[in-house]
Amino acid sequence: MSPTKTAIRVIVFMNSFLHILISVLFFPFFTVNEYVFMVQARGIQIRENVKNIGAQVLEQVVRGAYSINGTDYSYDFNFSESDAPPTTYLPEGFTYLPSQVCPEKLPSMKGRLEVNMTEISLEEVERFSLEREPSMAPGGFWKPTDCLPRWKVAILVPFRNRHEHLPILLRHLVPVLQKQRLQFAFYVIEQGGTEPFNRAMLFNVGFKEAMKDLDWDCLIFHDVDHLMENDRNYYGCTDMPRHFAVKLDKYSYMLPYNEFFGGVSGLMVKQFKKINGFPNAFWGWGGEDDDLWNRVQFANYTVSRPQGDQGRYMSIPHHHRGEAQFLGRYTLLRHSKERQKVDGLNNLNYFPLVSRSPLFTNITVSLSRKLAPIADY
Ligand code: BGC
Repeated sequence: MSPTKTAIRVIVFMNSFLHILISVLFFPFFTVNEYVFMVQARGIQIRENVKNIGAQVLEQVVRGAYSINGTDYSYDFNFSESDAPPTTYLPEGFTYLPSQVCPEKLPSMKGRLEVNMTEISLEEVERFSLEREPSMAPGGFWKPTDCLPRWKVAILVPFRNRHEHLPILLRHLVPVLQKQRLQFAFYVIEQGGTEPFNRAMLFNVGFKEAMKDLDWDCLIFHDVDHLMENDRNYYGCTDMPRHFAVKLDKYSYMLPYNEFFGGVSGLMVKQFKKINGFPNAFWGWGGEDDDLWNRVQFANYTVSRPQGDQGRYMSIPHHHRGEAQFLGRYTLLRHSKERQKVDGLNNLNYFPLVSRSPLFTNITVSLSRKLAPIADY
C-alpha cells in the first residue's frame, strides 16, 4: 500500500477519535439520548474503519501477489458507501406537457442542497415565497401548473415553542417541493396546555384535520428542525411507507439502529388508516416513532429508505432544553401489537383552533390523557 494511502487512513481514523473527544467535551449541550447515539455511531464507524482497513490490506496483499509487475494495485479507497443511485434523472431541457403527469426524476432536482440555518422572520419567508410563487393559496396550498401533480402530499409538522425553526424549515422545504412538482400543503399542529409534548397525538390530529381539506394521497411526518440536504429525496408516495431521515448529522450520518423511524417519515393515507395512525399514549420525548415502526411491521408493510446521500439531514441547533424523556416507552413498546387496535385514530378526541396563514394551516390543540381514553387490552 502506498504511503499516501496509509496516511489518508490514519487521518480518517484520528478524525473519528477527535469526534468522540468533541462529543465528550460538549456533553452538556446534548440530550442523553443524542449523546448515546453519537458515541454509538462513532463507535460503529471506528469498528467499520478498522474492518475496512484490515480487509483492504488483505486485498492488497492478495491482489499484489497476482499483479503483473508486483507494484501497488490500483484500487479505489473509498470509505463511504458506494450505493450512489444510477443517474436516471431526466436530462436538462426535458419538456413535459400540462396534460401529463409530472415526472418523478426531474432535471431540476440537482441533488446536494445548500442548508441555510440563519434565522429569519416568518413574514419575510411568506413575502418572498409569494413573490416567487404567487399561486400559493392561504394555508400554503400549492400545485404545479406545467404538469399534473403525481401526488397530493400533506406535510404535518408537530410544534411547540420552536418559533425560530419554522421559518427556516419553510424557507428550505417549500422550494424543494415545488421543484419536485408535488401538490402539497403544510399543517403545523401546535400543542397548547402544560402536558408533556405528544408528537404522535399531534400527528393524529393533523391527519384528521388535513383530510377535511382535501383527499390527500400521502402524509409526511416532519420534525420542524430537520433540513434535507438533497433535493432528490422525493416526498411523493411512490415508495411509502418510507423513512426519509436516514442519515442525520447529529448521529454522524449513520442510522442509529435498523428500526429507527424518527425525524421524517411518510405513509400513504390508506396505510396510515390501516395501522390506526400513531399511538396516543406516548407523553414526552421518545418511543412514538418506534411504535409506528412496529405498527407498520404488524401490517406487513416494508419500509423503504432513500439511497446513499439522498437521505442526509441537518438538524437546527436548539436554544433551549429538549422535552423530558418518556421513560415508560419501553414498557409500552412491549405491548405495541395489543395497543394498536385500541389506541390511535379510533380513540382520539380533540378540540382544535384552526387558522390559515400564507404558508401553512395552524392547528392549535390542547392535549390531555383523557382525550384518548384507552380500553383495557
Ligand atoms: C427513541 C426514539 C428516538 C431514538 C433516536 C429512541 O430511544 O425511543 O423515539 O427516535 O431513540 O433518538
